[in-house]
Parts: sequence; structure tokens; C-alpha cells
Amino acid sequence: MTTDRRTNRRLIVLGSTGSIGTNTLNVVDHLNRTASASIKVVGLAAGRNIKALIDQARWFNVENVAIADADQQQQVSDALPDCTVFAGPDAAEKLVHEVEATDCAAAIVGAAGLRPTLAAIRHGLTISLSNKETLVAAGELVRPMLSEYGATLIPVDSEHSAIFQCLNGHGSSPRNRVKRIVLTASGGPFRTADKQTIQNATVDQALRHPTWSMGPKITIDSATMMNKALEIIEAHWLFDLPGEKIDLLIHPESVVHSFVEFTDNSTLAQLGPPDMRTPIQYALTYPDRAGGCSDAMDWSKLRGLSFEPVDFERFESPKLGYRVIEAGGTAGAVLNAANETGVKAFLERRIPFGRIVELTGEALSEIPVERVDSLETVLDADRRARQYVRSRLADLSPTPPVPAR
Ligand code: NDP
Repeated sequence: MTTDRRTNRRLIVLGSTGSIGTNTLNVVDHLNRTASASIKVVGLAAGRNIKALIDQARWFNVENVAIADADQQQQVSDALPDCTVFAGPDAAEKLVHEVEATDCAAAIVGAAGLRPTLAAIRHGLTISLSNKETLVAAGELVRPMLSEYGATLIPVDSEHSAIFQCLNGHGSSPRNRVKRIVLTASGGPFRTADKQTIQNATVDQALRHPTWSMGPKITIDSATMMNKALEIIEAHWLFDLPGEKIDLLIHPESVVHSFVEFTDNSTLAQLGPPDMRTPIQYALTYPDRAGGCSDAMDWSKLRGLSFEPVDFERFESPKLGYRVIEAGGTAGAVLNAANETGVKAFLERRIPFGRIVELTGEALSEIPVERVDSLETVLDADRRARQYVRSRLADLSPTPPVPAR
């Protein structure tokens, strides 16, 4: 992209009240104040948190907001009388269709982000993509749509932002020059735990991430390491790489965000503090850079960087990512939906921690893979996976809920 992205930008933030959404608005404010950027926030979309949504709309003088929880529409309209308020399950998608924009931060969690992100692609927007679930479930649809509608995806996920930055300057099709990429993983709260402890981990333990502060769903995905399965698939679609060229490495300090190893055995890595504002800012300023919103690393205080292989015996979930790439078609939608349903059930203390990954693997085995030829095929696979996991939960119903500790 050669245009100066500092001027006349009109940004929609989807999932504005979440961890990434809030950080995105902080970065926008920082860029507008310090980097002579003019990014106008023209739309905000949230799920249920109307207090944060209203505060954000007032802060940025936003004229259009969307709230998925239709019951709260009146309260939002009363608080923001000059604002157009979209409400209901498809409110975010409507907002994207109705509001003129140049950019979109796609930061809704889970499959709920799929339709609004596809709408942003249809409008040819430049999208800073956090909602990895869109690529996991519908990468096969997304890739051709990007060229058809002239939309651009810039990854926000720290690992993919790292790869994206390392590949800059390596031509439009770096695939042939890349020997492999290595996605780093902190290992989450159970990096050193034995299998039995992991199987029976409590909600509180699983929500205690050692290095990153994130929303609950991705925090659980990090604890099961299903997040790496999602990221392997995300990398496959973003960088057009086969599974054999995507590796994982545990790196507990979360400072090296990922590596690219080129065919000449030279390796590039991107390093920085574990602070999502850095990749968010890069996505918003790309291909330029601006003064950082997050703190710089104090390298003199860093006592070392350590790496270890993933123990696939204790953490089986990343293998599901490779399995999905191999299977293609609707397998990604099944994995994503089954995992989401499992995570929800765990957070509701209805299943043990270890069942999340087991149920996702079972759904992948039980639900036949179909070719993805439309959004409907993806949504149908998503529905079937959710139904499958729910039916397995019903089988478990005589068991008392897992107690909170
Ligand atoms: P959070 O749970 O913190 O936030 C989720 C956001 O999505 C909230 O604003 C929520 O609204 C909104 N939302 C949920 N359902 C809907 C809906 N139906 N319509 C509109 N908005 C909705 O999640 P995170 O910010 O942690 O994660 C967001 C995405 O970014 C995920 O895909 C995650 O995997 C990815 N990601 C996150 C990272 C992080 O550091 N947090 C790092 C890398 C990727 P409300 O709160 O009002 O209900």
C-alpha cells in the first residue's frame, strides 16, 4: 500500500468494548494526538456492555453504534440522542454496510465476528484483523474475496504481525523464499503442569495467563493451547503456507513474537514487549511507523530468552490445527465452533478443562468435511459442530457441575 494512511481515515471498531477494541481506541487516540494522524472513529460495535460503548461513543464523538443485545437499544438511544443505533444479532454487520468507512478493526470475539468481517471485506476496507476465527472458519471464502473487493487484511495477532513484519520487503509472494515460519507460544498457565493437573484445571487457574492480559475466550484458548491450532490455520490463510512450513516453539518470556526462516537459512524475528498495543498500532500505521504507544523494552534488564519444543503429549490441541489444514473445506468451521462451545461450557463450569480439546477433536472426527462454496456451507458446519458438542454435554448432564474453587 502506497497511500499515506495518516489522512482522512474513517475507522469502524468492531468489538470496541473488549480487550483489543479498548486498546485499539487508546492507540487511535495516541496516534491522533502525537503522530498527526487523522483517524475518525465513525462506528463502534459491541455485544452487551453498553456502559463502555456509550463512554467510547462520547469520547470519540461517534455517530453510529451497534449493540448485539437488542433489549438495550433504547437505553443506548436515550444516552446517545444524536447517534444512529443499530441493534440485534446482525447489528455489527448492518453498521458496516451502512456507514462509510476506509478502515475496520475486526475485534469481535469468536464466530460472531464472521459476518461483520466479511461485510468489511465486501466494502473493500483495510482491516486490522484480530478476529482470527473468521480465517479459521472461512479462510477459503476470505482469500478470493480480498482480491475481488480490493480489501486488505493486516494481522493484529502478535505472532502473525511478527511474521507480516519479517516478510516486508520480500516481494509480493514470499512463499517461495520461506523455508518455514515458527509461531512462538508462551505455553500458558499449564506449561509445566502434568497431564492430570491440566485435565482437571479450574476456571480460575485457566484464566491466569502468565504474560498476556486478554479477553476470557482467548485466555482459555491459550491455556488449552487451542489458540495455537487457531493460529496455525490463521497463518496458513494469511501467508499461503502449507502446514509443513508452520512450526511452533514454546517461548515463556513472550518477547520474540515469531520467526521466519528463509530458504538461505537466514532467520528474521520480531521482538517487543508482550503488549497488544504494539501490533495494533503497526496494523493502523502500516506501512509507516509512528512513536510507540506502549513502553519500549529495557533490553539491559532482560536476563535471557528461552525456547523449548511443544509437548504434544500434554497439549494435543495444536495437532488439530494441522489436521484442519490437511482436511480443508468445512473442517475449520467445525473446529472453531466446537472449541467455542466447549470453552463456553467450561467457563460455565459444566465440563472439566480437558474435555474442551477432547470434544473438539471428536467433533472433527464425527462431522463430515464438505467443500466450502458459500457462507451458508460454513454456517451450516458451524451449526452442526455446536449441536454436536451440546448433545455431548447433554450426555454428561447427570454429572453434577464442576464446582468453582
Ligand atoms: P473480549 O472478550 O475482550 O472482547 C470481545 C468483544 O467482542 C467485546 O467488545 C464484545 O462486546 C464483542 N462482541 C461479542 N459478541 C458480539 C456480537 N455478537 N456483536 C458485536 N460485538 C460482540 O475479546 P478480545 O478482545 O480478547 O479478543 C477479540 C478477538 O481478538 C478474538 O478473536 C481474539 O482471539 C483476538 N485476539 C485477542 C488478543 C488479546 O490480546 N486480547 C490477542 C490476539 C488476538 P461486549 O463486551 O460488549 O459484550
